[in-house]
Amino acid sequence: MTETTKTKFEFKAETKKLLDILVHSLYTSREIFLRELISNSSDALDKLRFESNKGTDIADKELPLEIRIDFDDKKNLVTITDTGIGMTRDEMIANIGTIAKSGSEEFLKQLAENKEAVNNIIGRFGIGFYSVFMVAKEVVIKTKSFKKDQNAVEWKSDGTGDYEISDLTEEIKRGTTIEVYLKDDAKEFAEKYRLEGVIKKHSNFISFPIYLKDEKVNTIAAIWREPKSSIKKEQYDEFYKFLTYDNEEPLETIHSSVDAPIQFNALLFIPKKSYEFWRFNRDDYGLDLYVRRVLIQHQNKELLPEYLSFVKGVVDSEDLPLNISRETLQENIIFTKISQSITSNVLSHLTKVAKDNPERYADFWKEHGKIFKLGYMDFSNMEKYQSLLRFNSSESKDEKELVSLEDYAGRMKKDQKEIFYALGASREAIDMNPHLEIFKSKGLEVLYLYDPVDEFVVTSIRKYKDFDFKSVDAANLKDIEKLEDVVKDEEPKEKLSKEDDKAFGRLMLKMKEILGDRVTEVHESKRLKGSPATLINPDDSMSSTMQKILKMSNQGLAMPAQKRLMEINKDHKLIINLVSVFKKNENDQFIVDTTEQLYESALLLEGSLDDPHKLVNRLNKMLTEASDLYRKNNE
Ligand code: ADP
Repeated sequence: MTETTKTKFEFKAETKKLLDILVHSLYTSREIFLRELISNSSDALDKLRFESNKGTDIADKELPLEIRIDFDDKKNLVTITDTGIGMTRDEMIANIGTIAKSGSEEFLKQLAENKEAVNNIIGRFGIGFYSVFMVAKEVVIKTKSFKKDQNAVEWKSDGTGDYEISDLTEEIKRGTTIEVYLKDDAKEFAEKYRLEGVIKKHSNFISFPIYLKDEKVNTIAAIWREPKSSIKKEQYDEFYKFLTYDNEEPLETIHSSVDAPIQFNALLFIPKKSYEFWRFNRDDYGLDLYVRRVLIQHQNKELLPEYLSFVKGVVDSEDLPLNISRETLQENIIFTKISQSITSNVLSHLTKVAKDNPERYADFWKEHGKIFKLGYMDFSNMEKYQSLLRFNSSESKDEKELVSLEDYAGRMKKDQKEIFYALGASREAIDMNPHLEIFKSKGLEVLYLYDPVDEFVVTSIRKYKDFDFKSVDAANLKDIEKLEDVVKDEEPKEKLSKEDDKAFGRLMLKMKEILGDRVTEVHESKRLKGSPATLINPDDSMSSTMQKILKMSNQGLAMPAQKRLMEINKDHKLIINLVSVFKKNENDQFIVDTTEQLYESALLLEGSLDDPHKLVNRLNKMLTEASDLYRKNNE
C-alpha cells in the first residue's frame, strides 16, 4: 500500500454525535448490528443480481451470490463478506462517510424519547451501518466494485473522530468484507452459538445463503411461494417481523396465490400500529416486488394505491419479465393487472373482517382509518371503499362507537332521502351546534365529522346508494318539519302575544339594519329549540368548514366573506325579553349590543370568528351591567 493513496477524513458533526451515542450509551439490542450488516450485504447482492439481469458487464461474474460470516475468538474478530456490488472509492466516501443529516437528527430525536427503541428504528434512517460501533472498537471495510477496472479500497475507523480511506494493493474479488474488531465487553459476538442465534432470529428470511464458517444458517426460502396450508401462524409472524422490524405481530395477514389469468403470489400484512408515527419519512412505504424470487424493487409504491399504504409485504410474479426496468413497470399491463388484483384482495379482506369481527375492524380503523379515508378518489373500488368507511354519529354512545353508511341507511326514516352530516372540531362541539336541534327533536341521525378529511370524503363521493350527503346547515327544512317529533318540546313558559309578534317582525328588520351587509337576511327560525340564534348558509353556498379550509390555504389573499342568513328563535327567553325592550325604545343600545353578540357568538361556535376582542369587550360590558342589576335585586 502506498502512502499517497491514504486519505484521512473527519466525520461530520452530526455523525460524531450519533456515533458518540451508539458507542457510549447503548447497551441493549447490540446484536442488531449483525442484522444491519447482513441487510446491507443482502441489498448489495440484490443490486448485483439486478445489474446482471439487465445484462451489465460485471466483474468476477462467476462468483456465487452469498454472504459469509467468519469469526476468530482469539482476535475478537467477526467478518462479514458478500459478493454484492461493492463500492468504488467515491461511493465509499459518499455512502459510508456521510449520512443524511435529516436521518441522524430524526434518529437522535426518537432515541431521546425511548432508548429501547433503537432496535426498531435504526434501520429506518439510513444509518444502519453505524450500529456496528456499538460492539466494535475498530472497523475495516474492504470493497471492490462490480464495475470493471475499479481499484479495491479500504476504509478504517475506530468510530470516534475520523476515518481513513486508502487503495488496497492486495488482490480481492468483487464485493465487500467488513472486519469488526470487537470491544472487550462484546466478545460474545465472536462465538458460534451467539452468532448463529442472532442470524436465525433476525436474518432468517434473507434470500441469499448465509454461511457461518461454511455452514448454511438461514433456512427459510421465499415463504410467500409456499402453499398456505403448509405455513404456521408463527412463520407468518416471524416473516412479518423480519420484514418490518416491528416487535408486534401483524393485525392481519393476507396470503394469496393466483394462477390465472396472471400468476402471482402476494403475502401482505396490516400492522397493528400505524406507521403515521414515521410519516416524516414519507418514503417509508410500499411493497417489495419480486420476479421469480428475484427482488426487482424494494418498496414499490404503485402496486397499491396510496390510501392502502399501511399495507406491508411482498409480491412475486412469474409473468413479469426479469429485466423489466423500474421506470416502465407502471406501463406494463401485467403489472397493472396484479396491482388491481391485490388492491381488490385487500379490500375484500377488510370487508370480511368488518363483517365477521367488527371489534377487530374497529382496531384497524382507529389506527389506519385516517389514511384509508383518502381513497375517496378510487372510483373503480367505490362500492367496497364506501362500505368500509366509518363515522361517528348522533346515534353513537360515545366518540369510540363507529357507524357505517349501511348502519345509517338502515336507520333512515321513511321518505328520508339524504344522509345528514355536521362538521366540527369534536364530538362535543358538534353536539352543541344549534343546527342539530331540529334533527334531534325529529330523531334524525346525523353523521359527526370531525376529521378535516371527512368533508372531502363526503363531498367527493357525494352519494351512498341513492342517498345524497347533505350538511345540516344546508338541509331543506320544509321536508324535515313534516316529520313527527320524537322528542316532545316543553311548551315555552312564556310566548309572544299577537301584538308582540308584530314587534318581533320589526325587531328582525332592526337586527338586519344593525348587521348590515354581514347577513343576507334575518329570519324567524324553525329549527332552533334551545338556542336564541344561529347563522345558516343561503342555498347552495359553501359549507362553513369548506370556507375555513379555503381561507387557510389562501393565506394572505383576501377571501370575500360569505354572507350568511341569521335565524332567530322567538320562543327563546332572551328574544322575548328583547322584544319587550324593543317595544319601549326601538333604538336602545341594548338591542345593538345583543344583536352583535348573537351574531359573533354564532360565528364563534362554528369556529369562524376572526377577532375575539370586540366580543369579549362587549361581553364584559354586558356582564358588568347584569351584575349591577343583580346586586341591586339582592340588596
Ligand atoms: P442504508 O443501508 O440504510 O442506506 P447504511 O448506513 O447501513 O444505510 O449504509 C449506507 C450505504 O452504504 C448503503 O446505502 C450502501 O450504499 C453502502 N453499503 C453499506 N454496506 C454495503 C455493502 N455490504 N456493499 C455495498 N454497499 C454497501
